[in-house]
Amino acid sequence: MGKFADFFKKWARSSSIWPVRYCVACCSTEMAAAMASRFDMERYGVMPVWGPRQADFLMIGGIVTKKAATRIKTIYEQMPEPKYVLALGACTSGGGPYYDSYNAVQDVSEIVPIDVYVPGCPPRPEAILRGIEMIQEMIKKGIRADAPLQVDEKTKLKEVLKSYER
Ligand code: SF4
Repeated sequence: MGKFADFFKKWARSSSIWPVRYCVACCSTEMAAAMASRFDMERYGVMPVWGPRQADFLMIGGIVTKKAATRIKTIYEQMPEPKYVLALGACTSGGGPYYDSYNAVQDVSEIVPIDVYVPGCPPRPEAILRGIEMIQEMIKKGIRADAPLQVDEKTKLKEVLKSYER
């Protein structure tokens, strides 16, 4: 594929993300706010779909129980490649207030590969949108969390991460 065609494909893909959501508990209200008129996630080209088979982006928010883990894995596996995953909130990255619960998954990356973590309890809508911008950057640069990183890709990832420092 030519350079321009490759650039165009990545640009188009990053500008038309179709997410499927697994979002429960308090984080789901912030996700709803990010989608509503004030923050308007759709202006980023993010158009929620209702089935994993059409989605290329999985948003996981709220507490993930061990019972739900297999469902999330199934959703992820039903999504076509290439696909990206965003984890919202403290619960998904470290269990949050449920860090010592017998039925809480402590790190959702044990179930599916996570591309971007958005911290917070709950994360504000601005933080969620920032996470989506990071996913868009990864798509444009062709970086995947679940793909084995080559040396030059590691350099790219470092560049991307550095560009997010404020
Ligand atoms: S991270 Fe905090 S706000 Fe989000 S679901 Fe867990 S407890 Fe609720």
